[in-house]
Amino acid sequence: MKSAFNPFEMAQSQFDKSADILGLDGATRELLRWPLREFHFGIPVHMDDGGVKVFRGFRVQHNDARGPSKGGIRFHPQETIDTVRALAMWMTWKCSVVDIPLGGAKGGVICDPHNLSAREQEQICRGWVRQISRNVGSAVDVPAPDVMTTPQHMLWMLDEFEVIRGAREPGFITGKPVGMGGSLGRTEATGYGLVFALREALRLLGLKVDKTLASVQGFGNVAQYAIRLYLKLGGKVIAVSSWDQADQTAYCFRNETGVDPDALLGITDRFGGIDKEKAAKLGYEILPGDAWIEQNVDILIPSALENQVTGETARKIKDRVKVIAEGANGPTTPEADKVIQERGIFVLPDFLANAGGVTCSYFEQVQSNMNYFWEQDEVLGKLDVKMTSAFHAVADLAKKQKLYMRDAAYVIAVSRVAKACHDRGWV
Ligand code: NAD
Repeated sequence: MKSAFNPFEMAQSQFDKSADILGLDGATRELLRWPLREFHFGIPVHMDDGGVKVFRGFRVQHNDARGPSKGGIRFHPQETIDTVRALAMWMTWKCSVVDIPLGGAKGGVICDPHNLSAREQEQICRGWVRQISRNVGSAVDVPAPDVMTTPQHMLWMLDEFEVIRGAREPGFITGKPVGMGGSLGRTEATGYGLVFALREALRLLGLKVDKTLASVQGFGNVAQYAIRLYLKLGGKVIAVSSWDQADQTAYCFRNETGVDPDALLGITDRFGGIDKEKAAKLGYEILPGDAWIEQNVDILIPSALENQVTGETARKIKDRVKVIAEGANGPTTPEADKVIQERGIFVLPDFLANAGGVTCSYFEQVQSNMNYFWEQDEVLGKLDVKMTSAFHAVADLAKKQKLYMRDAAYVIAVSRVAKACHDRGWV
C-alpha cells in the first residue's frame, strides 16, 4: 500500500462517475457516497510476553438497503479506516451486481499476524467480537475472512459470539471450516468465480481459452484457485508474483513452459509467499515484483492488493493483452483505467470478477441458517450460474450503452441499491 493513495477517494470517484451516468439525485448521492455506520474500537490483548497491547479495530457498514451487510475482516499492519470504508462500499456494489440480497460492510484490525502467536491472534478475534457483538449477526451484518484472516479466525469469532448470545448462531459469520458450518466450495469460490466470468469474457471476445497465456499477481487464495481452474480449461500461466516477508518486497516468478500450482504450493508459506531460492531450483526465473504486468500474455489477473495497476504501471502492459480480470479489490486506479479504456482492453471489474467469494458466502449463510448443507458440485454449479448471468447482464449493458465494463457494472449495481433506498422511503 502506497501512502499517497487513498482507496476511499478512489471508490467515491468511481461512484460519482456512475451517479452522473445514472443522473442520481443529491440525497441519494450523499447517502451512497458515505457509509451508513462505522465503528472504531480498541482491542486490548494480553500478549505472550506478559505485556498488554491495544490493537485498533474497525467495522464499517456501508449500506444495508438490500439486506444484512456482508463483508470480510482484514488483518493488516497498514490497515486504515479509509481502506475499510472503500472495501465496505465495494461490497455493497459487489452483492448488488450479482443480485444477492445482502448489503456491504468491511472490518479490519491493524495488526500483523506474521508477528503474533496463535493465542494472541485468538484474543484479537475474540476481542473484535466483544466490541461489535451488538451490531452484527445473521440478520444484521455477517463477517467473513479476507486478507490474512482464516477459517480458524472465523471459528474463534463465532465461538465468542455464541458465548455472548448464549445460543448457536452459525449464520453469524461465513468462511468457517467445513464441518463446522462452512460451505464446501468456499475456498475455491473467489478464484473459480473469476474464471467462470473470464471464460464468458473470452467467449464474447472470440478467444479460445487453450490458445491464451496469463500472468497473475499474487499467489494466495484467489490466485491459486483462479490458476487451477484456468489451467483446467486449457489456459497457460507463465508468471505469478508474491510478497517476500523476509525481504519486504515482491518478486515475480516466471516459467515460459507454464507455472505448476502444485509444485509452487509446496514452496509457499501460509500467507502466499513463494520461497525464491526453492523456486529458482524448480526452474523459475526470479524477476522484480512488478514484472507480472509486463508479460507478453493475453490475460492479466491482479490478485494481490489494491493500487497495483497505476497510471505508471499500466503503460508497461503489452499490446498482446486483451483482458484484465481483477481478482483483488481495487487493483486499478482511475488514472490506469483511462489508459486501459483507451487501449480497448476488456476489463472484468473487481466487484464483478471477485464476487464468487461473497456469492458462496451467501450460500454458506443460507446453509447455516437452514442447518442443511449442499454437496460441492451443487455449490459450484450455483456459483457458475450466478457469475455467468451477472457477467452477461453487465456485458449486455456495456454493449447496449457503449459503456466501459467497469461503468456498466457500476450502473447496474448502484441503480439496484439506489432503488432499494428509494423503495424503502429513505431518500
Ligand atoms: P491472500 O492473503 O491469500 O494472498 C495475497 C497474495 O498476494 C499472497 O500471495 C501475497 O504474497 C501476495 N502479495 C501481497 N503483496 C504483494 C505485492 N506487492 N506484489 C505481489 N504479490 C503480493 O489474499 P487473497 O484472499 O487471495 O486476496 C487477494 C485479493 O483478493 C485482496 O485484494 C482481497 O481483498 C481480494 N478478495 C479476496 C477474496 C477471497 O475470498 N479470498 C474475495 C474477494 C476479494
